[in-house]
Formats: sequence, structure tokens, C-alpha cells
Amino acid sequence: MGNPSNATTNVGQPLNYLMEKPQYALSYNRDNGEPNWVSWHLDSSWLGSAPRQNDFRNDTTLPAGWYQVQATDYSGSGFDRGHMCPSADRTITVSANSATFLMTNMIPQLPANNQIVWANLESYCRTLVSQGNELYIISGGQGLQYFIANGHVAVPAQTWKVIIVLTNGTNDVGRVTTTTRTIAVVMPNSGSIGSDWRAYRVSVDQVEAITGFDFFSNVSPSIQNVIEATVDNQ
Ligand code: MN
Ligand code: MN
Repeated sequence: MGNPSNATTNVGQPLNYLMEKPQYALSYNRDNGEPNWVSWHLDSSWLGSAPRQNDFRNDTTLPAGWYQVQATDYSGSGFDRGHMCPSADRTITVSANSATFLMTNMIPQLPANNQIVWANLESYCRTLVSQGNELYIISGGQGLQYFIANGHVAVPAQTWKVIIVLTNGTNDVGRVTTTTRTIAVVMPNSGSIGSDWRAYRVSVDQVEAITGFDFFSNVSPSIQNVIEATVDNQ
């Protein structure tokens, strides 16, 4: 659906470095030690019975000389290693599931965010797939608070996600219309957050405003204008 920050594979642009994996794509921020955004497609072809691998590990595909966030770097910080592309969205094979445990797919999320309200929205996305839909999902963190891991990993103040929901089909970009459902949320990375993801819905425009990214840029501007201005109410 587009490259939200025009990330490239130019190592001279270490704060917006494009990494494309078979399972998801991301813009990496070397100095924050985490992705600016992670983008993935979710449909039934990704879902199977592979068990959760839990093989958190540094991403050795980062450019030479860049710090590789380690599996243990979040230890003792109080933050979870929060998947952007969820483990449970990649269960078709063991290798696909394992790919979600690379630390380039993680941001620090407090347990109350990650394990409850954020996880509830992840689960809802898979429910939509079980009902015959395919989704395009982009997520990340926003608002630097401070660093953990000896200055290697930035803690975001909030987490955000934007979603396009399409019924299963082909030519997906071309099928997005002014009535296509979008879902966007901004959730505090806070211990006092509630559990209902619907309470944190905003418009895609609002997420674009706080991140500076342009989501769904492959969709015609006149359609973006409509689907990005609405707040989901389903
Ligand atoms: Mn999670
Ligand atoms: Mn846009």
C-alpha cells in the first residue's frame, strides 16, 4: 500500500533504513534501536499451526557496524519485547514464525499495553481474517521518552497502528475505495491503559500527523482523503 517514510536501503540514511523480509517490511532507526514502522499483510495464507518459537535474537542483516539490539537488552527494564508483526500472524511455517522474533521487529511496550489492549487488537485482526478478509497493517511507536539498554533502545510514549480491511481478492490497491474500512489507534505506552482497543481509535490522518508518515500512499489521493479522515466505529 506504499512506503510510509520513503525508506531506502541507503546505509547513509540510518534513521530511515528499509529492510524487506519475506514476512514483513520495516523502516529501521539505528539510533533508536527499533523500527520506525513495520508493515505486513495478513490473510489466511499466513496462518497455520506452527508453534510460537520464542527465539528472540539480534538481526544480523543490519548494515556492518550498526549496533544489533540483543535478545537480552530489554531485560530488567520493565518493558516487554513487543512484536510489531505479531508471532501469531505468522504461523504457517516454523521459519515464518521465527522471523517475527528478530529484534528489528520489536519496540519496548509496557505489559499493560502489549499483553492486553494491544494484543486484543491483534486478535481482532485475526478474527477479521477468519471472516474472509485480508488486512494491510502498519505499526510503530511514537514520542521518545528515554533510552534503555545502555542507550541503545528508545522507549516510545505511545504505540500506533493503522489497518486497511479488504474482503479477500486480488489487485488489492485497486480495490480500495472511499468506503473501504480503515482502523487506526494510538495507545499510551502506559501501565494505566485500559483494555478496550476501541477506546483508542483515531483517524489515519491523526496518526499521519503525529508520525509525519504518509500511509497508503499507493492509493489515489482522493480516496486517501476520505478513508484517512474517518474514525472506525464498527
Ligand atoms: Mn505483543
Ligand atoms: Mn496517506
